[in-house]
Amino acid sequence: MSVRNGREFLSIPGPTTVPDEVLRAMHRPAVDIYSGELVAVTRSCLADLARVFRTQGRIYIYAANGHGAWEAALTNTLSRKDKVLILESGIFARVWGEMAAVLDLQVESLPNDGRHAVDPAAVEMRLREDKAGEIKAIMVVQVDTASGVVNDIPAIRKAIDKAGHGALLMVDAIASLATMPFEMDDWGVDVAITGSQKGLMTPPGLSFIAAGEKARARHENADLRTRYWDWTQREGEQHYQKYCGTPPVHMLFGLRKALDMLLEEGLEQVYRRHGLLAEATRRAVDVWTQGDALAFNITEPAERANSVTTVLMNGGGKPGPLLDYCNEKCGVVLGIGIGEQDGRAFRIAHMGHVNAPMILGTLGAVEMGLIALQIPHGTGGVQAAVDWLGQSVTR
Ligand SMILES: *Cc1c(COP(=O)(O)O)cnc(C)c1O
Repeated sequence: MSVRNGREFLSIPGPTTVPDEVLRAMHRPAVDIYSGELVAVTRSCLADLARVFRTQGRIYIYAANGHGAWEAALTNTLSRKDKVLILESGIFARVWGEMAAVLDLQVESLPNDGRHAVDPAAVEMRLREDKAGEIKAIMVVQVDTASGVVNDIPAIRKAIDKAGHGALLMVDAIASLATMPFEMDDWGVDVAITGSQKGLMTPPGLSFIAAGEKARARHENADLRTRYWDWTQREGEQHYQKYCGTPPVHMLFGLRKALDMLLEEGLEQVYRRHGLLAEATRRAVDVWTQGDALAFNITEPAERANSVTTVLMNGGGKPGPLLDYCNEKCGVVLGIGIGEQDGRAFRIAHMGHVNAPMILGTLGAVEMGLIALQIPHGTGGVQAAVDWLGQSVTR
């Protein structure tokens, strides 16, 4: 028995749902890569990405996923044996740190239990000890997609400033850009990173770096630079230099359309929509947790992200049967737990091209699964989500 046929809901935190408009924009023949339309698309995408990052800094586009941009951020600004400080809050900063170690950087971590945001006071304390200024870069994610935490980037910046430390602040905004405010210049972020397949509603395969003045000054003497990632190479006059080779033509047409859609909706409204749908999800989960079989992974409500909610199974419960039920019976694909939450959690994404019926549909399928599998839960989670939206989204 199943009620699956119909449109599948991909409710994983990346890749996210690609709008039909974006798919249609990509469905076209390849074009000249040396002149004409594509050159203009590159120029306008660079300008609009800077608007989304809220920076006067330079944007670089890579035909790579987020891991590629992680590597590019490091190789463009650092030298062998430099020390970097990883601010952990889930698996993503840690893996970024692993990449740094392979590049022969010295990696130090500020540990975290994967259920809380980075503590700015701990950052300040560690940096105050670094009198010699050995730490050259501080790496943090704005939203950790595994734990579901949102870190307070302005507070971390303040902590760095209070310690009087000169390290570069590098922020992974892959799961947060275009889902919540990000103010690269106002917040004093030196390097910001994102990918195409999350808030930017474009298929996976592109990633982006925004680099501020201080980062570009460090770039001059960085000895980890390699030809492919190199910012200076990508600033060349020729269009193909922006991509160190053939541009990802169709991805760029898709990106152009996605940026049009985001800017037409308006970034403030995009953030509001994400906030409303995230809160609807949290209202539902909050009710379900009354059965004690489930819990929010992030214990502090204010530290829960607006792009993804990570739900822990208590008491050794396994999320597999619920994930299978939602997929096989309802056509809703939930995110699995990863990192510390591997085999212990599921994730509900509310990121990118999502609206009320998609989120309410996903929540409805989860609640169906909780009932069908007799997983103890407070009843009326979906109703709580509907109530929240009905009260918040008024005429
Ligand atoms: C998805 C994600 C990544 C990795 O991006 P890939 O495109 O899979 O390489 C890195 N950081 C965060 C916060 C992410 O959500």
